[in-house]
Amino acid sequence: MEELTLEITDLPGDPVEIPYARIEGRAGEGPHLTVVAGVHGCEYTGMAAVMRLIARLDPETLRGTVTAVPILNQPAFWSRSAFVVPADGKNLNRCFPGDPGGSYTDVLAHEIFTPIIAPSDYLLDLHAGDLPEALEPFCLYEESDVEDRARRLALAYGLGHVVRQSSASRTVGGSTSSAAADIGIPAIIAEVGANGICDEASVERHLRGVLAVCAELGMLPGEAHAEAGAASVAPVEYDGWIWMRSAVRGFWQPAVTTGQDVTEGELLGVLLDPLGRELDRVLAPAAGCPLFLTTSPAVVSDGLLLGLATR
Ligand SMILES: [Zn+2]
Repeated sequence: MEELTLEITDLPGDPVEIPYARIEGRAGEGPHLTVVAGVHGCEYTGMAAVMRLIARLDPETLRGTVTAVPILNQPAFWSRSAFVVPADGKNLNRCFPGDPGGSYTDVLAHEIFTPIIAPSDYLLDLHAGDLPEALEPFCLYEESDVEDRARRLALAYGLGHVVRQSSASRTVGGSTSSAAADIGIPAIIAEVGANGICDEASVERHLRGVLAVCAELGMLPGEAHAEAGAASVAPVEYDGWIWMRSAVRGFWQPAVTTGQDVTEGELLGVLLDPLGRELDRVLAPAAGCPLFLTTSPAVVSDGLLLGLATR
């Protein structure tokens, strides 16, 4: 295992150091798989899973190379900042592939994308529900020229729900997976865990997913796949999703939970005024399944309420 540090010095303010590991397999030829976590600063389950991956991978049984970055967004991690980088308030996962002439987070994205993501054959980006967010485990990939290979990664990861995001209606642009897909790298975002909690079950589920992908790509022996507890049930696949935002500022009281099928017109929740009177009722615009849900009642106007995956 090679210990490396990505040093980023041309940011306004203090330099950023991102420690990571590279494991070169000695069991034969194979692809270069990059596994990152901590793109969002308080999504800890993936970070812990990547740390365990580094300890677990044995070069003697590995084919190909794994680059593993446990905590990518160092500024957001150390400041315990949900979703955004404090320096400019931007979401790193909307800024890839980055811009060397942009603001803090654009530069950070560029300095990460070029050496870490661009040289990969495959990319796994591990997330969870951030501090104010419940979540049902799912994988996401983009419509692209390499989407068949990205879907294969998503299915191998073994979570219950898989969302394909079409390029025409890309709900989320500038993400690791969309920027990777744009340059021909099959990539997925895998989401397990919720509310900024680093729980054991979610950490292990992430780790099993990564090991299952390694086996699927022929980088680990097949037994690792079985040992990893590969999914025996095919996941539900979705053609896209609707990110629902609030029309008003209010005290958000969801009426549904993540992973629950809802019908068109079903009540998803209400927003109350400061004295508890109903301001707005939020109805499902289509049948679907909420895969993430804001659990914090504090929702501003245009604030994100939930992500409704649709078939
Ligand atoms: Zn995230």
